[in-house]
Amino acid sequence: MNTIPELLPHDAHNAILISNVHPPDWPNPEPASRYNLVVIGAGTAGLVTAAGAAGLGAKVALVERHLLGGDCLNVGCVPSKTIIRSSRAVADIRDASQFGIRVPEGTEVGFSLVMERMRRLRARISAHDSATRFRDLGVDVFLGEGHFSGPDTVEVAGKALRFKKAVIATGTRPVYPTIEGLAEAGFLTNETVFSLTEQPRRLAVIGGGPIGCELAQAFRRLGCEVTLFHNASHILNREDGDAAEIIQQSFIRDGIRLILNCKTKKVEKKNGDKMIHIDCAEKAGTIAVDEILAGAGRAPNVEGLNLEAVGVQYDKRKGVKVNDHLQTSNPMIYAAGDICLNHKFTHTAEATARIVIQNALFMGRKKLSALTIPWCTYTDPEVAHVGMYEREAKEKGIGVDTFVKTLKDVDRAIADGEEEGFVKVHARKGTDKILGATIVARHAGEMIGEITLAMVGNLGLRVLSNVIHTYPTQAEAIKQVADTYSRTRLTPFIKGLFTRWLAWGR
Ligand SMILES: Cc1cc2nc3c(=O)[nH]c(=O)nc-3n(C[C@H](O)[C@H](O)[C@H](O)COP(=O)(O)OP(=O)(O)OC[C@H]3O[C@@H](n4cnc5c(N)ncnc54)[C@H](O)[C@@H]3O)c2cc1C
Repeated sequence: MNTIPELLPHDAHNAILISNVHPPDWPNPEPASRYNLVVIGAGTAGLVTAAGAAGLGAKVALVERHLLGGDCLNVGCVPSKTIIRSSRAVADIRDASQFGIRVPEGTEVGFSLVMERMRRLRARISAHDSATRFRDLGVDVFLGEGHFSGPDTVEVAGKALRFKKAVIATGTRPVYPTIEGLAEAGFLTNETVFSLTEQPRRLAVIGGGPIGCELAQAFRRLGCEVTLFHNASHILNREDGDAAEIIQQSFIRDGIRLILNCKTKKVEKKNGDKMIHIDCAEKAGTIAVDEILAGAGRAPNVEGLNLEAVGVQYDKRKGVKVNDHLQTSNPMIYAAGDICLNHKFTHTAEATARIVIQNALFMGRKKLSALTIPWCTYTDPEVAHVGMYEREAKEKGIGVDTFVKTLKDVDRAIADGEEEGFVKVHARKGTDKILGATIVARHAGEMIGEITLAMVGNLGLRVLSNVIHTYPTQAEAIKQVADTYSRTRLTPFIKGLFTRWLAWGR
């Protein structure tokens, strides 16, 4: 039976989304006698695996129990980045006087309009992931919950799909914090927060990692009074410390109340308020809010797949165990995306899907460990990173030289009024080989691509220093940081030679 997922609010935009990614009248096809590949889960990892394999001539079945597109399209990247864009417009208006622009008083955020814009754009983007599009690409799309029912069989909605190889791409879901009284008081997660149509006046966000931080800042700028709870002494504490500090200061300027290093003891409902009782090193107290958003941690969707029966090993916290070729403990079954990765991003879901196609279907030996994976947290400014952090290099006993260019010295950043940030590159000591980089800038996510390209192409800082960048751009900071490296090559000895040579030529 095709159980239609509930997606609130019931409006025209969500109706379009559903008609694309879980059509109510979808007829599951008659299964082929055997598939080259049966893919369970149609998030980014599953969709890319299925489309890529079918494009190469494989007979592929794709199984999805909820919405094609998975988290990214429906309750992750797409809706979050859409509302972040609106929240940036608010910040631009707030800061307009710095640019010599007087904004009339009484400018208002239309919260419900912001959320409607998000639903409209999400519905539009959903066409890329639609069931009919994938059927047209040659994929047999089955809607329903899939599980392994035999060594070479996946069962979905009463149909048995026999496979030569299978791929588990079932992703993750939000972890529900174990705080006394929270479940009774009610809380939001990324699965429900994008259904809001009315602005919560006071919002508590639990979790100061990337998801919590992005949403805390967006909702603050859209007008909510936001309190962010984080159980470490700094938000984004896994990031480069200097980068995290810039974001923390930006949050304080935005008026986000930070409760750090604190345990949330219990939550209770009183006169319509949700009362959060905290217990910190310095203080204990109670904070009253209207809504609580839990944004701390992800749990892998391993339940109900009958993995034990097919000998696929997994960990309830870390997900399906894979080797470097993304093969599970059952050599006929592979995994891709969040279900098996530490780096839970859409672009890694896509990259691992590509590895799986080659390894599962064409006896490829592509390795997960060979990937160079960048990522970005879309706060304002953004924090993007690739490769090693300085602390990781230290732990591994690798010597590094670190080169930094602050945006305060970059003409375009000054002109843009976006000077809070930097480009920091770690190179192997005494060489120009790039080991890692962190960028803090309004569009750091765009800029990190250049350094990722250099790392993948084995191009060092010397090459980056020779690349002509258009003036004025913030990306010039990348060339300038590379120039900083080049200047270290000008040792007193070489400078002395140059001076003598030039004196001789006068
Ligand atoms: C708020 C938020 C913002 C994010 N922003 C970004 C961002 O800006 N950039 C970025 O790179 N990443 C971002 N991410 C992470 C990104 O969404 C994930 O990395 C990506 O969706 C992983 O894709 P996936 O295919 O592995 O898993 P998922 O997208 O989780 O897809 C798994 C699919 O499997 C289905 N499924 C599970 N079990 C079964 C079953 N038994 N049978 C059938 N189907 C099943 C699920 O319904 C789901 O559709 C964000 C995540 C969140 C929560």
